Amino acid sequence: MDTLEYKRHIDTVIEKIEKARLHVSGHHIVKIVAVSKYVDAEAVRALYAIGQRAFGENRVQDLRDKSAALSELPLEWHFIGSLQKNKINNLLELDPFLMHSLDSLDLAQALEERLERQERSLDALMQINSAYEESKSGVLPEAALETYAQITQLCPRIRLKGVMSIGAHVNDEPTIRKSFETTHRIFEKLPNATVCSMGMSGDFELAIRCGATMVRLGSVLFPERL
Ligand SMILES: *Cc1c(COP(=O)(O)O)cnc(C)c1O
Repeated sequence: MDTLEYKRHIDTVIEKIEKARLHVSGHHIVKIVAVSKYVDAEAVRALYAIGQRAFGENRVQDLRDKSAALSELPLEWHFIGSLQKNKINNLLELDPFLMHSLDSLDLAQALEERLERQERSLDALMQINSAYEESKSGVLPEAALETYAQITQLCPRIRLKGVMSIGAHVNDEPTIRKSFETTHRIFEKLPNATVCSMGMSGDFELAIRCGATMVRLGSVLFPERL
């Protein structure tokens, strides 16, 4: 795909986002995080060249490698994957713009301890397992408000900005919609939350219609994978 074809492809994705966004309201803003986990640094550079600034990775090592390879570009790096405790220092060293995957009070407290030692802070989203899937991490919806409040209270160096969810992994639209609505309902009850990160390549339009303010798009933005 040459640059022009690539630009045209991205424009079709943006048009879909526009349509879904306006379905909510003309004031509803949606930010795209381009998930670069399937592609190399050169693909990130190509997307940067047509205007994308925010990129996401789900492995600390990949985040390190790509951000180092592209350190001359003013990119915003998001961490979207499960974080093992033994990788906490490695992640903090990279000073990510936003961590989407804070999935328990226990992890928050482990992060808080390192943040305090390093005199840093971290912007993060609390992940909610709104589809109740065994394979997914995240706080269960019933516990979400309380856990969010506990993290806010016990972990002052973690600045919670909102919530993240992965939609139900099924083909049934009502079920996916229900998982997004569950997350959005919690989001609306949180004090000072501004980010509702939900929606991936297969379900971003639905997620936006359910109130997502941030979508994480991988395969649909990097068609070399298609
Ligand atoms: C891989 C990944 C995405 C993007 O997936 P696509 O379906 O390729 O858009 C979004 N969020 C998380 C947490 C991911 O791991």
